Amino acid sequence: MLNIEIDKKSGFCFGVVKAISKAEEELAKGEVLYCLGDIVHNEQEVERLTKMGMITIDHEQFAQLHNAKVLLRAHGEPPSTYQIAKENKLTLIDASCPVVLKLQSRIKNSYETSTKDNTQIVIYGHHGHAEIKGLVGQTDEKAIVIENETELDKVDFSKNIRLFSQTTKSLDGFNHLVNTISELTKNKTNFEYSDTICRQVANRIPNITTFAQQNDIVVFVSGKKSSNGRVLYEHAKSINPNSYLVSNENEIAGLHLDLTKKIGICGATSTPLWQMEKVRNKLIELSDNFSK
Ligand code: SF4
Repeated sequence: MLNIEIDKKSGFCFGVVKAISKAEEELAKGEVLYCLGDIVHNEQEVERLTKMGMITIDHEQFAQLHNAKVLLRAHGEPPSTYQIAKENKLTLIDASCPVVLKLQSRIKNSYETSTKDNTQIVIYGHHGHAEIKGLVGQTDEKAIVIENETELDKVDFSKNIRLFSQTTKSLDGFNHLVNTISELTKNKTNFEYSDTICRQVANRIPNITTFAQQNDIVVFVSGKKSSNGRVLYEHAKSINPNSYLVSNENEIAGLHLDLTKKIGICGATSTPLWQMEKVRNKLIELSDNFSK
């Protein structure tokens, strides 16, 4: 008898839910809808919406587009995107997550006062990530992005520092960075920081901890490009070494899991429920084939 459970606390965050429902709403009108970048870091969900008619484009293609309707995903965009849209007469369906928009506005305000008080804007985040591009864009590309403490040599410690975080970075990593910078600036320069990590992600850490402890095997379902998926999967693995990352149900057979064990299926904030259900169904199918 198979013992499989899908984590009820896994799945899309509200930012992604909002972006996808906006896309579905627009596609239902039967007009052409472009999406700037993958709507979510999940290949199968992108494929589902593509079949409904959505066309995903990159920033180069966006710059060439005129008189069309373009959806901006939850990660947010830099000011240059809005400028291009205006010049090219593009209609934007802005599905930027409100949490990201609030962070963009805080960074923009902070940057505007930064030159007066000799302050550097530092953002803890992943280089090249879409959200980071949107955040750095608020500072005329001046913000310093650091992915981890080994990159602290990019920061000038003779100047003041104001630190923010990409919404999907790890809370532990951020706190650690704050302690290190506090030590390095002690009694010398001013150091301010804002914990801008989204609790839709951070709260999943305690949930995943419990879930990983309750199961013998954890199957973590996430797109390979999901930053939040990586953070959560690595955490699950640190709690339960029998944790495996898969991007779809076809990767299950290759894991050769012991199907007599208690198996928990969970995912990232970019993992749809239907995908975790497909993984569960695949496990049931494998078990049925095995007992034949
Ligand atoms: S993880 Fe948080 S900030 Fe990012 S899209 Fe979801 S709700 Fe918004």
